Amino acid sequence: MSAPMSAPMSASGKAGEIAFHAKSVSKTFGARLALNDVDLQIGSGEMVALIGPSGSGKSTLLRTLTGLTRIDGGPGRIEALGHTVQAGGKLDEHVRGLRARVGFIFQQFNLVPRLSLYSNVMIGALPRVGLLAGLVGRWPKAESERGMAALVRVGVADYAGQRANTLSGGQQQRGAIARTLVQGAEAILADEPVASLDPVAARKVMGVLQALNRNDGLTVVVTLHHVEYAMRYCPRTVALKDGKVVYDGPSAGLTRPMLVDIYGPEFEDMLSEGTAP
Ligand code: ADP
Ligand code: MG
Repeated sequence: MSAPMSAPMSASGKAGEIAFHAKSVSKTFGARLALNDVDLQIGSGEMVALIGPSGSGKSTLLRTLTGLTRIDGGPGRIEALGHTVQAGGKLDEHVRGLRARVGFIFQQFNLVPRLSLYSNVMIGALPRVGLLAGLVGRWPKAESERGMAALVRVGVADYAGQRANTLSGGQQQRGAIARTLVQGAEAILADEPVASLDPVAARKVMGVLQALNRNDGLTVVVTLHHVEYAMRYCPRTVALKDGKVVYDGPSAGLTRPMLVDIYGPEFEDMLSEGTAP
């Protein structure tokens, strides 16, 4: 296998291994071509931003990587962590097992509102422990330690006993990240994880993702509305426009004229929102 085309490996990322590979991937919704023959390789241990205007296909691409969205039939295929996720429009039969190894983070956090933060995080352990033991909260010691360690790791251990719906958005999002750690994720796909957060909370969430990438070698792919976050936290950026990759390289290589070209008039609006990271 050839090395990924850019970005240095983090300390514990496995140099040369490909974490995600999308080959000739197209996706149509009705008459709309959301992804138009996309090729993308993400190396193990990379932290990559996916940017582009609204409707350019960012979420769709991210979701295809773990089989949450099925690609069109034809030559297209997706591989993740050494396994086929889907090919020719069909999900691989082993995709469920693979999904446990890939954490998916959503803009709206997706915690269970009435459960404590700790219980939410322990949901990540249910596949190992079993639903019944989980329901009565009878966690093996190693599992509960793992849960607390994950909460410490993302900086919200003090709120472990608090109900999720009483926490701030940033605390909830860090809880969602902790849940993927308990799940045992080797890679995190995050779809607009900071879009609902104020700049201070957004920086904390991006900092957590960056630390997991740098210190623990997790592969991170994150869609971002604000290109400033890509520049600041992600060594590599992939930009989509109308379902096609129009830039793939160092984030620092994105120039203003390129961004104006990618975003069109939306770019000036983004700047005037004044949410620099
Ligand atoms: P982005 O995340 O960059 O804003 P999306 O991947 O959500 O873009 O959407 C890409 C295109 O596909 C858009 O035109 C969107 O309207 C369309 N699309 C996405 N999901 C669906 C769906 N479930 N049904 C129909 N159209 C969809
Ligand atoms: Mg989106």
